[in-house]
Amino acid sequence: MTNNEKPQVDLTAACACGGVTLSVRGRVRSMFLCSCEDCQRATGTGHSAVALVAIGDVTVTGDVASFARPANSGATLTRWFCPRCGTPIYAASSRAPALAMLPVGLFGAAADWFVPNQLIFARSHRDWDIVAPDLPHHATYRNEGGH
Ligand SMILES: [Zn+2]
Ligand SMILES: [Zn+2]
Repeated sequence: MTNNEKPQVDLTAACACGGVTLSVRGRVRSMFLCSCEDCQRATGTGHSAVALVAIGDVTVTGDVASFARPANSGATLTRWFCPRCGTPIYAASSRAPALAMLPVGLFGAAADWFVPNQLIFARSHRDWDIVAPDLPHHATYRNEGGH
């Protein structure tokens, strides 16, 4: 665990079936939880846990499938996942194409550096999904820089 708000990471993780690996080497730009309805659908639970990194710091090996949809912002959000086991690999928004949204759970115990600093899309957050009450909640994006 670190108190550094923008940790430097050097990690490789694999999907459940091992067909896809993702390596990230660089500084984490932002860490947050998102309870938009798309994240609830994509994760099957109340929110996603996201580490934002530069897309150039990410290397993906293996065949990935993608699905693109209009985001709440009007941008296009694309999610990449393993076509065999369905594990989410990363996502990116057309309005911030230089950034990759990494699903923190992909890294398992190697993601102890993850300390989210906000919950976005709190307007669709469900009461049954417990998050730290002192975590800042934003109805949609904190500012115009979210996904
Ligand atoms: Zn897989
Ligand atoms: Zn979301």
